Amino acid sequence: MLSLQDVHAAYDGIIVALRGVSLEVPRGAIVTLLGGNGAGKTTTLKIASGLLAAERGALSAGRVEYQGRDIARHSARDLVKAGLAQVLEGRHVFPHFSVEDNLIAGTLVRRPHRRQLEQQLEGIYQRFPRLKERRRSLAGFTSGGEQQMLAIGRALMSEPKLVLLDEPSMGLAPLMVEEIFEIMKALNAEQGIGFLLAEQNATLALRYSDFGYVLENGQVAISGKSADLAARDDVRELYLGVGRGAAAVRSAKSARSRRVAARQSIASHSLDT
Ligand code: ATP
Repeated sequence: MLSLQDVHAAYDGIIVALRGVSLEVPRGAIVTLLGGNGAGKTTTLKIASGLLAAERGALSAGRVEYQGRDIARHSARDLVKAGLAQVLEGRHVFPHFSVEDNLIAGTLVRRPHRRQLEQQLEGIYQRFPRLKERRRSLAGFTSGGEQQMLAIGRALMSEPKLVLLDEPSMGLAPLMVEEIFEIMKALNAEQGIGFLLAEQNATLALRYSDFGYVLENGQVAISGKSADLAARDDVRELYLGVGRGAAAVRSAKSARSRRVAARQSIASHSLDT
């Protein structure tokens, strides 16, 4: 359904974010992107959602296809119309609009009739009963978990075939994160909606997805079925924090961050003097 072939991308023409990423999201699959900070997960999602140019980013090489069509130069609006919706990192609801008006904003590219709109809202409220309870509240006064549900609900109002979901777990309590992943799984199983998900919580992301790609420094380092990735020693040690080498990796990482901090402190000291 979505494929990236040898995609290179940069911001401002100089900050290289992706160095030849290839990946596939089959129809109706849940695919997860894993990787540390700055690995290129969000950039990959922005490329697929037509939002890269808005951040002065651009594709420098490669091909991006959605349903067999080259979409590298399509606008985000056209992609949403074609069934490719995105839920950005940080949730981004309209805080001064009610929960319901936020949901209705998700239909703007389609403009359904009143009756259709009511049916769609009812469908979202069945899936997210918490949003029904809060439908008249200002979105800015709802909890982080409710805002994440609202951002997903708004994307669903555009009737997507594939949702690009960036860090749904960020800043949320574990139970709320589970609830959101369960809803994603149900949407996938019952409505066939596909998901391409960027997530730092590798344990959960691998448990709920079909395929995974581990990005490192703008490249795909490891890929495969999620169950296979979750069983691999290197993935377990580096991304799931389990296994014999995990403690060594953690201590090497903290030693590295201590060295970086020490270097930065020396550099700023020599600038000051
Ligand atoms: P995180 O989990 O921290 O969001 P990520 O895996 O999503 O990380 P990206 O946000 O895609 O990684 O970043 C990839 C690289 O591109 C990083 O070096 C980052 O600093 C850079 N980058 C990301 N967004 C911008 C931007 N708007 N302008 C300039 N550079 C950017």
